[in-house]
Amino acid sequence: MTDSIAGKTIVITGASSGMGAAAARYLATKGANVVLGARRSDRIDALAAELNEACHKATAVATDVTRQEDLQKLIDAAVETYGRVDVLINNAGVMPLSPMDRLKVDEWDQMIDVNVKGVLYGIAAALPHMREQRSGHIINVSSVAGHKLFGGSAVYSATKFAVRALSEGLRQEMAPYNIRTTIISPGAVKTELLDHISEKDVQQANQDYVGQVGVPADTFARMVAFAINEPEDVAVNEILFRPTAQE
Ligand code: NDP
Repeated sequence: MTDSIAGKTIVITGASSGMGAAAARYLATKGANVVLGARRSDRIDALAAELNEACHKATAVATDVTRQEDLQKLIDAAVETYGRVDVLINNAGVMPLSPMDRLKVDEWDQMIDVNVKGVLYGIAAALPHMREQRSGHIINVSSVAGHKLFGGSAVYSATKFAVRALSEGLRQEMAPYNIRTTIISPGAVKTELLDHISEKDVQQANQDYVGQVGVPADTFARMVAFAINEPEDVAVNEILFRPTAQE
């Protein structure tokens, strides 16, 4: 099959580490113009420099997805630099797991702000351009935790169930505008996601498990590429993947 990634402008949130950075590398080497968003600008600047030095095309824009104006600037930068936005990957996310009775209310707020509102702000910034282009592709990152609950995942799962619900609504509403929607629900992937779990017992249990069964972040990059590479009249609506060893 002909690769249709080359020449596309692909915006990726959460591109400073883990799956977002892996997707940026993979898609840039396939010829995409990648536009990287995250709060740690040193990391995305370094990644963009590395890709540009290797004759790929990358731009970095410091972005906090909890700020709607930041997402607007990120998408505007893509359009100003490369003329259009073909794909938005709403990947930024946080997972400070904890049992509900520990009342980590600030972390509940953070998960809702980043994992749900951040995705909505990305959609709000990209849709007007995609509607005008009469083409586009929005890829939202949910999780296996957006399909089932596990220890300490109540609020995280609620945000990832929400990502699946809003993505399906978007898919239905945007079908007439030739805008594709894909939900990617990863299982255990080795990234920095567990570093920010504040409850040490929960963090240790998750590190033990993901350390044992987790797959590398490029797994996600290949799933993204698969969804983008399908012909324009096919939308891969959802990809759910797990390490083979994950229960
Ligand atoms: P990482 O922690 O490695 O990456 C998370 C990314 O999100 C970072 O680039 C971080 O950038 C960014 N981010 C966090 N908060 C914000 C914010 N307010 N504004 C902008 N960017 C932000 O983890 P992963 O790569 O694993 O996570 C990527 C996605 O995959 C998340 O949505 C996660 O929920 C999901 N996921 C991960 C799984 C796994 O096993 N790893 C399984 C299922 C889903 P910075 O801090 O620089 O802003």
